[in-house]
Amino acid sequence: MIDFNKMIGRHLEKEQRPKQIGRYYPSEIGGCMRKTWYSYKYPQQIDIELAKIFEVGNIMHGFVVEVLKSEKNREIELLKTEMPFKQDFGEFVVSGRVDDLVLIKENGKSVLIEVKSTKSLEFVKKAQESHRMQLQYYMYATGVHNGLVLYVDKNNLQSKIFEVAFSEKESEEIIQRFKNLHSYLANELLPLPEAKKNLEKNWMCKFCEYREKCEKNQQ
Ligand code: SF4
Repeated sequence: MIDFNKMIGRHLEKEQRPKQIGRYYPSEIGGCMRKTWYSYKYPQQIDIELAKIFEVGNIMHGFVVEVLKSEKNREIELLKTEMPFKQDFGEFVVSGRVDDLVLIKENGKSVLIEVKSTKSLEFVKKAQESHRMQLQYYMYATGVHNGLVLYVDKNNLQSKIFEVAFSEKESEEIIQRFKNLHSYLANELLPLPEAKKNLEKNWMCKFCEYREKCEKNQQ
């Protein structure tokens, strides 16, 4: 018999390159600062089961692109997908890829869409803070100041969509977080255990691969 689980695992296996201090990603900036710090200092091979979950997210995004491109959905036009950008702050660079840029034909507005897949839409009542921050930064970096976070349920393709208003102030706060992250890394200083201290974020600790290190408060 063939072991298809193993085959998927082998197919998804990639060599993990260590992250470079000075190169940061909007998808990580809204998470726990300490966890991000650890991921630069102590890179870990991504667990294959986690890699499978990430792949489901990619598959889901592929499907969303098909829906956005469909001729049956004439109210919008898909302008770009996986749109790369890079911003140089001198001491460090922030780069990423915006999921989708669409044009709403009715009002001629361009809108960025960040797609997230979820296990259960039932519990999604608003856009998660880290997703909002990611999109806020994309709006700042691209100059497209309209953004939506789209959640799609992996079990039944039901979806919810949340608008994120562009805010100069929030964008500056996010840039300050990048500066803080860079300073902690460059100066070998361990950030505070942000997720543990924040009620909205402490669920992240349950899935954190650095939990043991963090408990011991170790660098
Ligand atoms: S255990 Fe929690 S507080 Fe500590 S690094 Fe991980 S996510 Fe952050």
